[in-house]
Amino acid sequence: NTFESFQLKRELLMGIFEAGFEKPSPIQEESIPVALMGRDILARAKNGTGKTASFVIPVLEKLKPKVNKIQALILVPTRELALQTSQVVKTLGAHLGLQVMVTTGGTSLRDDILRLNEPVHILVGTPGRVLDLASRQLANLGECSMFVMDEADKMLSREFRRIIDQILKFFPQSSGPGNAYQSLLFSATFPLSVKSFMDEHLYKPYEINL
Ligand code: AMP
Repeated sequence: NTFESFQLKRELLMGIFEAGFEKPSPIQEESIPVALMGRDILARAKNGTGKTASFVIPVLEKLKPKVNKIQALILVPTRELALQTSQVVKTLGAHLGLQVMVTTGGTSLRDDILRLNEPVHILVGTPGRVLDLASRQLANLGECSMFVMDEADKMLSREFRRIIDQILKFFPQSSGPGNAYQSLLFSATFPLSVKSFMDEHLYKPYEINL
């Protein structure tokens, strides 16, 4: 398989090749086409498999640079992972004109407020600060059409479950079957905490086990 076969925007392919990726890794091969079709995904994948690009590429393909709204939220358990993930977004998305913001605890809320005066298409952050921004109406998730959770097992094993449930209440709400947004969940393991979250929030998820 090749990255060309995914029919991505030319500007996105440029970013992928500039990152030095020549062909999709197994997890990318399986998840990218499914994510592009709009389905929810639960993927069991370890670090080093290329899982970050598995969700970053569909996010970059689907978002609209001209729409000045937060269109994707990527939740991660730590600040370090948030910074790493935003770096992947910047590298692969270098030619797309999409703006990414990192927000985590332990940093100045005022800096976040200032940053939110500028365009943000993709928000990468840890749950507590994201909920803080959403509930103070500083970050509007009402038009966020993609929800990504990386290292879901780590997040759901902590106190984050209730926080994440609350964050999702700020997402667009669906009136019919399914959600008004797409969810992509990545997890190294698949404990009951992840299964329970999946049962409550994902719609007919496509499961990937590599
Ligand atoms: P990850 O599992 O997302 O932490 O990625 C592990 C490493 O693999 C990172 O250094 C990526 O830059 C690299 N990588 C991801 N996808 C590919 C690919 N398709 N070809 C070559 N390297 C890749």
